[in-house]
Amino acid sequence: MKLQTRYTDISELLAIEDMPTRAADPALLLFNDKLAQSLGISHDPEYLAGQLSGSITDDSVKPIALGYSGHQFGHFSPHLGDGRAHLLGAVKDVEGVLWDIQLKGAGATVFSRGGDGRCAIGPAVREFIMSEAMAALGVATTRCLAVVTTGETVYRQPPRPGAVVTRVAKSHIRVGSFQYLATQGDIEGLEKLVDYALSCHFPEIDTRAEQRYVDFLTAVIDKQIELIISWMRVGFIHGVMNTDNTLVSGETIDYGPCAMMNQFDFDTVFSSIDHQGRYAFGNQPNIANWNCARLAESLLPLFKNEQQALSLLSSAVNSFAEKFNHAFTTMWRRKLGLLDEHDDNQALVTELLTLMQQNNLDYTNTFNALTESLLADFALPDSIKGWAAKWRVRTSAESYDIMRAVNPAVIPRNHNIEMILAEYEKTGCSSMLNGFLSVLSKPYVYDQQFESWYEPPENGDANYQTFCGT
Ligand code: AMP
Ligand code: MG
Repeated sequence: MKLQTRYTDISELLAIEDMPTRAADPALLLFNDKLAQSLGISHDPEYLAGQLSGSITDDSVKPIALGYSGHQFGHFSPHLGDGRAHLLGAVKDVEGVLWDIQLKGAGATVFSRGGDGRCAIGPAVREFIMSEAMAALGVATTRCLAVVTTGETVYRQPPRPGAVVTRVAKSHIRVGSFQYLATQGDIEGLEKLVDYALSCHFPEIDTRAEQRYVDFLTAVIDKQIELIISWMRVGFIHGVMNTDNTLVSGETIDYGPCAMMNQFDFDTVFSSIDHQGRYAFGNQPNIANWNCARLAESLLPLFKNEQQALSLLSSAVNSFAEKFNHAFTTMWRRKLGLLDEHDDNQALVTELLTLMQQNNLDYTNTFNALTESLLADFALPDSIKGWAAKWRVRTSAESYDIMRAVNPAVIPRNHNIEMILAEYEKTGCSSMLNGFLSVLSKPYVYDQQFESWYEPPENGDANYQTFCGT
């Protein structure tokens, strides 16, 4: 693995050299061959177990931990940072694009604040499943290259085997990274960070142009809109959309308390600590908008004229809602295969969503059934049959392909992941896990033989909860 060091010349506050802790007995549990190939990394289990647990690093590797701030559930924490992550460096893919290689769970860092910097096997495997499923669903996301078991115990309730996840990302530049430098008054670093983010993610924006900061904010807003639309298209609930968990690249990051919605309801929340529903399924656009406003605030010190800056930045932030609503309308139209702009499109969508909520219909299975009903005699829930007759006359020959491309047949349902994790922890056998990963790799193919993976949980979501920082 040929690793390049990134971020260190932006600001000494941002990137701090920090060595991972050696693992007692590292072993490669999961390895993403396809991703590895695109990054030019060969499958050498012994070498990879050492390298990807942080246990062997050659002299060319200078691991760092990144500092960042974060609005967590609306409250500002100025000093967060990578408390359980080490960035080994970046590799170039076959097209010359740089990708960060980050180890999560390889011991404490300068930012750990009393935490152990460790990761238990369950959350590590869950992150692997979720991020690879999201990538296959066409959602922008950080990826998982590997999960390595450490041979050590992580002290949780109850104690668990330890693991290290290797996360691969276009960058680890978060909204919280800008907040971090702005809060500490490092204006030169802040300026360099914008320039670096532009060169990595928005090369079309001229880094010398006067309006570059507003262009940057606008480009991040557009990426966030695209991201939230794709989350909502597939029923994903992130669960902890803090500014430290928002990458300016628009990739999904931090698969902690996330979960997939089963029964359709905009108010769905799974996170055990989200009592107010701040990060509920249907509130995700508002929060993304709020997070973009926090990015705008952190860019303010870069402007000479504060009044002018406020006006330019707030007009960019205020454009979020209209742009989002337009993209959201298009998303529903595609999910229903409605090709033409029609006055009653919105009414048709609203009526369906109301029926789905009233009748506790499964989000994925309802849209999958509607899709397949265009090809064959596919059973639809009784409660939407009357609605479907009205919808059917509005579809056309191309509707099936349009719907099939955006409505998944299979998603990484929470109860399936829990079952697989329990099975793996009990038997140490990963065959069910690998079988599920294979089904999830083709989410837009409906195949009856995989029907057991399509079923929602028997008792609904009543008792399902997710947890942070596990
Ligand atoms: P997260 O909820 O994963 O976004 O984490 C929020 C903050 O807590 C980040 O600064 C993490 O680095 C830190 N953190 C989470 N788990 C641990 C841990 N086990 N040890 C040290 N820091 C952690
Ligand atoms: Mg985080």
